Amino acid sequence: MDVSYLIESLNDAQREAVCASPGHYLVLAGAGSGKTRVLTHRIGWLNQVERVPTWAILAVTFTNKAAGEMRARLDNLIPGGTQGLTVGTFHGIAHRLLRRHWREAGLPESFQILDADDQQRMVKRVVAGLGLDEARFPPRQAAWQINSWKDEGKRPENIEAGQHPVTRTLVQIYQAYEDACRRAGLVDFAELLLRAHELWLKQPAVLEHYQQRWRYLLIDEFQDTNALQYAWIRVLAGRTGQTFVVGDDDQAIYGWRGAKVENVQQFLRDFPGARTIKLEQNYRSTSTILKAANSVIERNGHRLGKQLWTAGEEGERIAVYAAYNEQDEARFVIERIREYVAEHGDAKDCAILYRSNAQSRNFEEQLIQHDVPYRVYGGLRFFERAEIKDALSYLRLTANRHDDAAFERAVNTPPRGIGDRTLDVLRRRARGEGSSMWEATLSELTGGTELAGRAKNAVKAFLTMIDEMARAFQPLSPRERGWGEGANLPNATTPNLLAPPEPSPPAPLPGGEGSSALSLAEQIDHAITQTGLRDFYEKDSRGNAESRVENLDELVNVASRFELTPDDIEAGLSELSAFLSHAALEAGEGQGESWDNCVQLMTLHSAKGLEFPLVFLVGLEEGLFPSQRSVEDEGRLEEERRLAYVGITRARQRLFITHAESRRMHGTEMLSRPSRFLGEVPPSLLDEVRPRVQVSRPLYAGRFAEPAPSLQEDLPVKLGQRVSHPSFGEGVIVSAEGSGAHTRLQVNFESAGSKWLVAAYAKLTPL
Ligand code: ATP
Ligand code: MG
Repeated sequence: MDVSYLIESLNDAQREAVCASPGHYLVLAGAGSGKTRVLTHRIGWLNQVERVPTWAILAVTFTNKAAGEMRARLDNLIPGGTQGLTVGTFHGIAHRLLRRHWREAGLPESFQILDADDQQRMVKRVVAGLGLDEARFPPRQAAWQINSWKDEGKRPENIEAGQHPVTRTLVQIYQAYEDACRRAGLVDFAELLLRAHELWLKQPAVLEHYQQRWRYLLIDEFQDTNALQYAWIRVLAGRTGQTFVVGDDDQAIYGWRGAKVENVQQFLRDFPGARTIKLEQNYRSTSTILKAANSVIERNGHRLGKQLWTAGEEGERIAVYAAYNEQDEARFVIERIREYVAEHGDAKDCAILYRSNAQSRNFEEQLIQHDVPYRVYGGLRFFERAEIKDALSYLRLTANRHDDAAFERAVNTPPRGIGDRTLDVLRRRARGEGSSMWEATLSELTGGTELAGRAKNAVKAFLTMIDEMARAFQPLSPRERGWGEGANLPNATTPNLLAPPEPSPPAPLPGGEGSSALSLAEQIDHAITQTGLRDFYEKDSRGNAESRVENLDELVNVASRFELTPDDIEAGLSELSAFLSHAALEAGEGQGESWDNCVQLMTLHSAKGLEFPLVFLVGLEEGLFPSQRSVEDEGRLEEERRLAYVGITRARQRLFITHAESRRMHGTEMLSRPSRFLGEVPPSLLDEVRPRVQVSRPLYAGRFAEPAPSLQEDLPVKLGQRVSHPSFGEGVIVSAEGSGAHTRLQVNFESAGSKWLVAAYAKLTPL
């Protein structure tokens, strides 16, 4: 068989990796050197040449979108198709395992996933329930702490709190939160991984089954795995599994979320005979872009050190634009994009990358104004919108009455006269009885005396409504589904683990675990209408009522297009369960499903692994990128610099960098200096798009070397002058730019540090 298509488009080092003999491999290489391509071709090679069946291969990617793209590429590399091959994120794969082995994992069959926002609400309720002060134990931080413990594989009982009172209280919150999740059948993101890991450790038969099945483990973006993910891979690989991991230490950008770049070196110690293969040729970017990226990342210490070169053309210089403010910045970017599209470029070639989600709005406004199609990847996430979560909470309750997060959400949206006092009574009862809110409500209704008649009627009506809805959704019996009585149905949730691994995935269950009388879209439509949610949002007088109703309609549309994947079927999921899990797991990735011809907007974090002909890196300002929190901490600053490296290396042909001199942030106008990262790019690679009107001093190395202007005569101050300011104290004016009322002054204050001030408002007194 001719397999040359698998290797002919590769260089020698890439070919070495793709065709390597059995063993463990670490492909360590810089951005755009073909790591993902090598990993994909390696899978093709294993299957086509080594005759490894697809079901024996597990490939882990960083996002669901990357998994989709990898599968699409593999469809072209594996003539027999990718059926049986597992490609997904750690979370997605862990989720499927838990669905399949819910019993062994100690979960209820109908467990639901708690997204980050719901998790925080749940922690908030727990903190209140423990009678703790929210100001001292902010739910957001407590949730973060719980997640970090989980990422390290720790349960409350494994944490050494010692004498530290704050830690002890946090452990108490963790414990209470865990109890609440267990009662409600809820699993948060970190829990997915931890449970699946515990499943490996506590159920040797399950582990053995998967060790025998997935003999080939391939992991992309390995530098951003956390401790638990790494442990997961180690356990799963066991003594016989073969691992192939690819990564770049210079692109480790999730340290703040617990990722451990040390795993790269740890891998070489833990996997016997592991070999490192380095790729050094970049195929993505022009040499100008690559040089810029290299000179930025060189400033970091603690690097594993890799060379990266390109045979590509020099390309144009990097355009830098100093905007007056964020609107001017957006205007500039959208103008460039419109020019590009007018010259027959595709809108989808253009990406706007920013440090924080909040920056997207200005660009969106201008894009809308000019009718340029765009897509925000991440950011405003469909499944995270309040009205969508409201609708889904009803469905979740019909699937599992003990889902407290859903209960709390649904119970009074739309308002049905169930007040806080009533809910407090129920919450207290639930805590006292160690039961779910649903059970507590039932017991209050039958034997309780705390609620008045009206309140009782209101909660009773709510329970009845949910029960009736559940009945309407009820799965048909097997006979109604058309299967003969006593048919030998495959039971996907309890496979025979002791049997040798199946040569192919188990036969799909027709319609999953429970086909309903109503289609999924009908169920959702029913839930939205019968609960009064649609009416509520139609009459809603708060802004955006129209778009909320449209979103609810869109949810019905999304549901009608929803199809179970082969993996869902293999895991025995019902349509509703699969859809709800999809909503929770994909929420974080936003609307990135379809890649129509539109401009791509996303954070630098979500741009990892992607590439675009035209890239706009925006908001390169001190305090924004690098972020304020990182500038005082060397470790964090290095992570920000890696993020800059990721950003620059997304560009194939052209890179634009912009920064605004003044920007509204958190409601106030701030003056800002260009990011230090911009100063780290050799000036010879940069091309300033518009010289500034007046600049007194080079702001970043070697550029803008214009003579220092004298300040406007009507201003009572000069460069070098000592001044006093009512809030900042005394200092010296070190630079100025702009003119007239727009003149901005930079003053080095003795105690308050360096500040930019608008001269017209500066309240400076010459000394
Ligand atoms: P990142 O670090 O950003 O994830 P990567 O190392 O995974 O990058 P890829 O995305 O696999 O790199 O490849 C970068 C680009 O170079 C892609 O467009 C890919 O198709 C192309 N490429 C990789 N290797 C070759 C090659 N040998 N010949 C031609 N093009 C190649
Ligand atoms: Mg890649």
